[in-house]
Amino acid sequence: MPVLPATAHRATTHSPEETRALGARLGVLLEPGDVVCLQGDLGAGKTTFVQGLAHGWGALDAVSSPTFIIVNVYRGALGARLFHLDTYRLGSAPEAEELDIDAMLAQGPLIVEWPERMQNVLPPERLWITIEHIDEMQRAFAFEASGARANQFLERIRNA
Ligand code: ADP
Ligand code: MG
Repeated sequence: MPVLPATAHRATTHSPEETRALGARLGVLLEPGDVVCLQGDLGAGKTTFVQGLAHGWGALDAVSSPTFIIVNVYRGALGARLFHLDTYRLGSAPEAEELDIDAMLAQGPLIVEWPERMQNVLPPERLWITIEHIDEMQRAFAFEASGARANQFLERIRNA
């Protein structure tokens, strides 16, 4: 068994509701500039996690898969913004470079599905979540933090 790095954390959920609850615990903590990456196969539960996360953050808009327009923007109270990026349909690395990540981060937190497709344009400080499909209802979440903010999230999630 590999030893888990100190920055890692694991959780298992047994329903979409549990996944949303886990997402909501993280969502309440998010602030502009924060980056959360969600890696996992189709149907792993990335968008389900984002639903909970957006709810916890305080989104007034419903979450949907930003499959065709690449980025969804959800409104919060007092003009807050939450950015939800899905790179699944992103054609190429140059296309990813056209996204103004810095402009998004100046305005709100950024959540990324399929982050492995645009690693080179994502900031190095981020929370990276890998979701694994265990069986029909069970999903394993592995959290790995890079940077002070992401480590704070792990501590808060651990203590929750
Ligand atoms: P992705 O965005 O990774 O492609 P989705 O969140 O869109 O995945 O879909 C996940 C699917 O798996 C949904 O149909 C959801 O109802 C189902 N599901 C079953 N169990 C879970 C669970 N524990 N967590 C998240 N989704 C689950
Ligand atoms: Mg999705």
